[in-house]
Amino acid sequence: MRFRAAVLRSCESPFAVEDVVLNTAPAPGEILVEIVGSGMCRTDLAVRRSAGRTPLPAVLGHEGTGVVVAAGGGPDTAVGVGDHVVLSFDSCGDCLSCRGAAPAYCDSFASLNLFGGREEDTPRLTDAAGGAVASRWFGQSSFAEYALVPARNAVRVDTALPLELLGPLGCGALTGAGAVLNTFRAGPGDTLVVLGAGAVGLTAVMAATAAGVRSVAVDRHPGRLELAERFGAIPLPAATSGLAERIRRHTDGGAQYALDTTASAPLINDALRALRPTGTLGLVARLHTALPLEPGTLDRGRSIRHICEGDAVPELLIPRLIGLWQAGRFPFDQLIRTYPLADINEAERDCDAGRVIKPVLLPERRDR
Ligand SMILES: [Zn+2]
Ligand SMILES: [Zn+2]
Repeated sequence: MRFRAAVLRSCESPFAVEDVVLNTAPAPGEILVEIVGSGMCRTDLAVRRSAGRTPLPAVLGHEGTGVVVAAGGGPDTAVGVGDHVVLSFDSCGDCLSCRGAAPAYCDSFASLNLFGGREEDTPRLTDAAGGAVASRWFGQSSFAEYALVPARNAVRVDTALPLELLGPLGCGALTGAGAVLNTFRAGPGDTLVVLGAGAVGLTAVMAATAAGVRSVAVDRHPGRLELAERFGAIPLPAATSGLAERIRRHTDGGAQYALDTTASAPLINDALRALRPTGTLGLVARLHTALPLEPGTLDRGRSIRHICEGDAVPELLIPRLIGLWQAGRFPFDQLIRTYPLADINEAERDCDAGRVIKPVLLPERRDR
């Protein structure tokens, strides 16, 4: 089967939208999905700095949505042909974390999602010249017209929903909202500070507002602070001194929760200083250097922890977020700008320059 896909050949090259060939039908437990939309997430772009650990050439994309066009069957295939699905991250289903309903902490998370995925004897996906193309990025590689994915990672949704917009629920929005609703379990009376008002930070703000949590958003970009304010946060510019003090002033003396999406050590220390006793800081951004903690920042019962994929079980959190969106309380679609898949490089440039919060790439519709 031949179709168009955006192939990344090296860390330096632009994406090339070209013909690829899928050499296999779905195996038991797998489905073939005709992609209708795929969000672009920071992790897709971070491959360029991954020091070669992610195999290239590859098709990236891990916020895909689409329609199931073939299914390989198997005992626990809950989705079938014609179903509309949101694709989320991959997990093994068998390790202690997966069996404990914590698939984001799957023992094989890094290998399955970031570093090449499940073993294959012959390449499933090849380019027009027959060269292997890695096709298991987050189990889905959805910057393409089709994706062959484990059915385990697909969440069935109502066919009446605007499927092309739902992709960010599979990673970015799942991460931001999940941190607030799952990890912190924040509720009315709680306070939250969010560092970085990108897709993850802004969906955290939306979830906080939906849950009755007062939030403060910190960012350098006035446009992003305006958005944060629209979604219910108190906006605070990052580039001024006394940040911790100003956060405390807006959170009755200290925030119960802080969510960092920036990996900036100075901001993280400010956030810790702004926490009330027993407050928790969650880290979602990958740290590239050691994190020096200033003395006293963890005193008085404060804690710091990493959060992966919003601690989500996608089959539980994605329908919940759709319900909040339908009720007008989780307007994640306002962060989206759509691009034809052919314009993926423009989407990346706009993302890097901060001109768009959440690009969603749409493959051309073709008559089948
Ligand atoms: Zn696992
Ligand atoms: Zn992501």
